[in-house]
Amino acid sequence: MQSNNARMANPLPIFDGHNDILLNLHLPERGSNRSFFVESDRGHLDLPRMRKGGFGGGFFAVFVPNTAGTVKEEDIIKTENGYEFPLAPAIEYDYALKTALAVTARLFRIEAESEGQVKVVRTSDDLETSLHNGTIAAILHFEGAEAIDPDLDALEVFYQAGLRSLGIVWSRTNIFGHGVPFRFPHSPDTGPGLTELGKKLVRACNRLGIMIDLSHITEKGFWDVEQLSDKPLVATHSNVHALCPCPRNLTDKQLDAIQASDGMVGLNFAVSFLRNDGYNDANTPIETMVRHIDYLVEHLGIDHVGLGSDFDGATVPQDIKDVTGLPKLLAALREHGYDEAALQKITHENWLRVLRKTWQK
Ligand code: ZN
Repeated sequence: MQSNNARMANPLPIFDGHNDILLNLHLPERGSNRSFFVESDRGHLDLPRMRKGGFGGGFFAVFVPNTAGTVKEEDIIKTENGYEFPLAPAIEYDYALKTALAVTARLFRIEAESEGQVKVVRTSDDLETSLHNGTIAAILHFEGAEAIDPDLDALEVFYQAGLRSLGIVWSRTNIFGHGVPFRFPHSPDTGPGLTELGKKLVRACNRLGIMIDLSHITEKGFWDVEQLSDKPLVATHSNVHALCPCPRNLTDKQLDAIQASDGMVGLNFAVSFLRNDGYNDANTPIETMVRHIDYLVEHLGIDHVGLGSDFDGATVPQDIKDVTGLPKLLAALREHGYDEAALQKITHENWLRVLRKTWQK
């Protein structure tokens, strides 16, 4: 299945802030008939393509879709200078828990069947070792806390199973807080912040050592976490609002707070969060990604920027195409003046530092 050659140490393993492969493998319409282990031309990720692209691992999202589907093209409302999607309705706990269990189990089965090629990492030492020896390092991440009950019993259990990162909300409302709708142009200030339960969840995540992901949360929710959390602030897959004014992207003020907390931002490859017209058009040059990285580096410093592709969850620039296109992004950054030390930070060192501080083990 795997030549020894491909497992030799890669000086720039790319650790990635967000992917949706687990959901893709789970949903029939997204390709649940394909295998993680077999190269495909569907989706953006599978093990052979990860090897080709120098993908060292990342946050593997457990996302619970709305039963009626999530973001559907036919729901789009065109506005004078952009678009609006209605906010997805909230989902039921029982359904969310059942689905989260099934999607989480998928990751553990991949690990078990991988003959040591994939490891679900639970400590920063695990992560560092995996990145250096060529094992794909997977962080179990929940995108939206709908599978967590108000008593946080499920949080304790999922933590013991390996949960190390949690987005309190996806772009919908739950008992803990409110997510931003997909809309353009608009600020991320689209609704209320954390509920009292949401505040309890933040404290519990701090105590356990579960990273809190701020991508998808309303601006008020962002500031609530900023007030409460004693860990670095992280947006795993968001971009620069000044360059692409959609609610999923971060304002300069939010970037300042992330910087002050020693946190970081992972660059989202979704073209609708990159382009200044907000269009979901794959014909978007890699240069557009470089512009967001430049802005993030200027505002945050090189120690606070990483990648958060959104592979298997978004339309990415056609020149990137899928995970095998990652070297093209690195080449564009090199051409743009980023040296190897800077690329090491962007590809994995910054994630390692932030996770070490957050997990404290
Ligand atoms: Zn997302």
